[in-house]
Amino acid sequence: MSIEVENLSKVYGEQIALNNISFKINKGEIVGFLGPNGAGKSTMMKILTTYIDATEGLAKVNDCDVKSDALNVQKQVGYLPEHNPLYLEMYVREYLNFNAGVYKVSKERIEDVIELTGLTPESHKKIGQLSKGYRQRVGLANALLHNPDVLILDEPTTGLDPNQLVDIRQLIKSLGKDKTVFLSTHIMQEVEAICDRVIIINKGKIVADKKLKDLKADQVQIIEVEFDYRVEDVLLNKLKHVSLVSNTHDFTYELTFSTKEDMRSVVFDFAHDNGLKILQLNQKNMNLESLFRELTSN
Ligand code: ADP
Ligand code: MG
Repeated sequence: MSIEVENLSKVYGEQIALNNISFKINKGEIVGFLGPNGAGKSTMMKILTTYIDATEGLAKVNDCDVKSDALNVQKQVGYLPEHNPLYLEMYVREYLNFNAGVYKVSKERIEDVIELTGLTPESHKKIGQLSKGYRQRVGLANALLHNPDVLILDEPTTGLDPNQLVDIRQLIKSLGKDKTVFLSTHIMQEVEAICDRVIIINKGKIVADKKLKDLKADQVQIIEVEFDYRVEDVLLNKLKHVSLVSNTHDFTYELTFSTKEDMRSVVFDFAHDNGLKILQLNQKNMNLESLFRELTSN
């Protein structure tokens, strides 16, 4: 198991940042840790990387306990902290050399990492001269220096422009081919672009933990239908799988169904059986973004 968290809580004074969290991540998975600001993502990542202690519970990386075996945990994880703190006055290669000294890694490995993260054309520059996208690459290169098994990336794409975003996502995805990646984000699209699985956290609690393909299958479907005459809500509420009926205007209704099954023909049959004509019908699938909002709004 790459990451194992059991009944973990973190309290800062009065603030409960993590509330009895448990999850496991298998070797090789790319898992998105999704949640709104203040959900507890960074706190979880700081605990996993041994920067702070949990108040209660257990956390392990590659079977090493973060508390009792912190040094071994540090050897196995590469961490890109939120806001990626870098020394702007240092040159890229100089900075990586400096950190390589801490980890005792070879000069060759530094060159490999520069190449791997696409830094070669910028490696002679000062970090302060780099674009945000390239600074993120430096942060990633730094996290990769000691060739860790597990990468923990805290909002690696926040603040990037759309092109940089695509580049960094691609890089993370390719790194994920031979590493376990646990990355936080507040963007559902990002999870869709990179991850196999998503753990959604809200106010310190896990509200969903699913494979992306299952999450897509779980989706609800919304049918907007305009009839030629008024219909009683009670009748529409009797339709199978219907979870919500709302009369959006005049004779137009928005019907929410909790099923994958295509409900359009059911709505047509309903109209027919009730002597109604359908003037318009639209089917919308609720996307992952709206699902995220549903799970994390309160
Ligand atoms: P996220 O990374 O998901 O935005 P954080 O883990 O940073 O969330 O924060 C979770 C909660 O813990 C927030 O309410 C935040 O204000 C609080 N928090 C984080 N760090 C501290 C701290 N050092 N002292 C007090 N409260 C903190
Ligand atoms: Mg954070």
